[in-house]
Amino acid sequence: MSVASGKKGDLKLYMGNEAIARGVLEAGVSVAAGYPGTPSSEIIENLAKASKERKIYVEWSVNEKVSLEVAAAASFAGLRSLCVMKQNGVNVASDFLLHLAYSGTRGGMVLLPCDDPGALSSVNEGEARNFARLVEIPLLEPGDFQEAKDVTKWAFELSEAIRNLVMVRSVTRLSHASGDVVLGELPEDEKKARFIHDGFVLDPMEGPVMSPPVAYKHGLLLDKLKKAVEMFEESPFNTYVGPDKPELVIITSSAAGLYAKEAVGLLNAGGKVGILRLVTTWPLPPKFMEKNLSMCDRFFVVEEVQPFLEENVKALAQELTAKTGPKTILGKRDGLLPMYGELNCDLVTAALAKLLNTTYQPVPQEYATAAMQKSFFGAPTRELTFCPGCPHRASFWGIHNSLCADGRQGFVCGDIGCYSMAVLPSGFSTLKTLHSMGSGTGVASGFGKLGPFGLDQPVVSVCGDSTFFHSAMPALVNAVHHRADITMIILDNSGTGMTGFQPHPGLCKDAMGQEAPSVDIPAVCRAIGAKVEICDPFDIVATQKVLKSLLMEKSGVRVLILRQICALSPEKKGKKKYDVAVNEEKCLGENCGCNRLCTRIFRCPGLFWDAEKKTSRIDDVICAGCGVCADICPAGAIMRLEN
Ligand code: SF4
Ligand code: SF4
Repeated sequence: MSVASGKKGDLKLYMGNEAIARGVLEAGVSVAAGYPGTPSSEIIENLAKASKERKIYVEWSVNEKVSLEVAAAASFAGLRSLCVMKQNGVNVASDFLLHLAYSGTRGGMVLLPCDDPGALSSVNEGEARNFARLVEIPLLEPGDFQEAKDVTKWAFELSEAIRNLVMVRSVTRLSHASGDVVLGELPEDEKKARFIHDGFVLDPMEGPVMSPPVAYKHGLLLDKLKKAVEMFEESPFNTYVGPDKPELVIITSSAAGLYAKEAVGLLNAGGKVGILRLVTTWPLPPKFMEKNLSMCDRFFVVEEVQPFLEENVKALAQELTAKTGPKTILGKRDGLLPMYGELNCDLVTAALAKLLNTTYQPVPQEYATAAMQKSFFGAPTRELTFCPGCPHRASFWGIHNSLCADGRQGFVCGDIGCYSMAVLPSGFSTLKTLHSMGSGTGVASGFGKLGPFGLDQPVVSVCGDSTFFHSAMPALVNAVHHRADITMIILDNSGTGMTGFQPHPGLCKDAMGQEAPSVDIPAVCRAIGAKVEICDPFDIVATQKVLKSLLMEKSGVRVLILRQICALSPEKKGKKKYDVAVNEEKCLGENCGCNRLCTRIFRCPGLFWDAEKKTSRIDDVICAGCGVCADICPAGAIMRLEN
């Protein structure tokens, strides 16, 4: 059911990202753009589902900077617009973001990054909050599911009141957990877009939209922030719950507020500890904070990852000393909570117990010891691996073996996607560098210029099809233009596989399910000036032959596109090309040349080692029927039968 269904007053169980999407609809947003990335993707996906019904335009943009530009255009034309991404994306968007903060907006515009404390599905735990402070735009941090909807909706009103972008930041535990939400009304008015640009250059609503004159616009930006602070002073979203004269007050925001509430409850400390939950976390409203800082002398800041709120509270408390007296602000800088990783109720409760001079033992010691022993010795090891029938396993098998056969210590510069797992044994430990999206080819471009310094190892990069459009294309242009000596491999599995098959420009459907012209990756690479070869990674022999010959080329950029649809894609899921079986007579097992090559090295989860029979076997339930294992068995013991 779409988040557009349900009327005012209805109670719904919503995932945080659904609540945010509903808030966007209740705000009457006309345009939403984003780039997929966990934990943010469901916001755009839910809006795309509601796009026809609510007459909104929704797109998965080619990258986060472009998505911010697309959303900004709608705002400049007087419409409300939303831009969504995960935390890494704000970094990508920041180039335009710095300009947009100065130019200002017209229709309400919200930037909604979802941070990932603990990097549960990321390769860093960078904080979007710092970007709000860097570019000087107001920051709102909803702390529960109702707020996820209501704060998002209010952010558009705030944006229109100050004529500037507003950041609403979510985190994994809010975006992906679920809770009750009372719905509001969906607006029914028709919206009309018009970009007015013929007015005076300094007219924010009728003149051209740009960041110059910079000093003037920067001054204006600071005035807008002051106005935001005035609105924050009265915000009903900032709340204090606790005694009038507390012994200690916890200052918190976002999902950390839920841990704080639970910690106070577990220690039965509600009579002496208050909780000040802030939604308007930057800039802090000084009058509201003065009132609350006057309540007691000791404050404990509970937040995830960096001490962002802690530092801001400390700075403000220092400024307010003449009015409130000196305050002790405790938190991460005192070692009470870690400066990395996710928080949890135990961590917060243990820190609070220390501050209250009481002891806290989450579970009886014997239970904790037994649980630790069981998980250490009792649970089977379960490593991260590619899915059965994943084309990436076959691709990296081909890449790894080609580099080994080449024998010159060639290496692969990696990239972000499910294929990043090739840094692990499941991908034969093939990736040797791993940074941001598109960086594999950028780094390879640099390595590819080190020949004059004696580097004689083959340089290979990998990227996915979505990443190619996102940010690997400029790196390829760079490599071609500067005559870097590299082989770039594009793992084209026909979708943004890691985040749930969101469409990208290489496909012929857009986010709203409409037909769209696809951009041809081989044609783009050839137009850039690279030599291009295309192979099916499931054809291991042909792939290795082509790759070995590309590695032997003397110089320049060669692109190998390994094209095979993702095993989990909606088109392919459940469809087996082959029925596969192990001929137990032929299987050499532990006497196989590589001592169980298929289950020990190739490691497709569809294969398992039968310790009793001393042969490998196929798990018919898990096997996706790609047939690749039949080619890797040196004894020819794995047979495939065409379906
Ligand atoms: S199926 Fe082939 S690779 Fe696997 S153990 Fe048997 S002989 Fe070795
Ligand atoms: S055919 Fe072999 S490689 Fe392919 S999914 Fe089945 S077990 Fe895995």
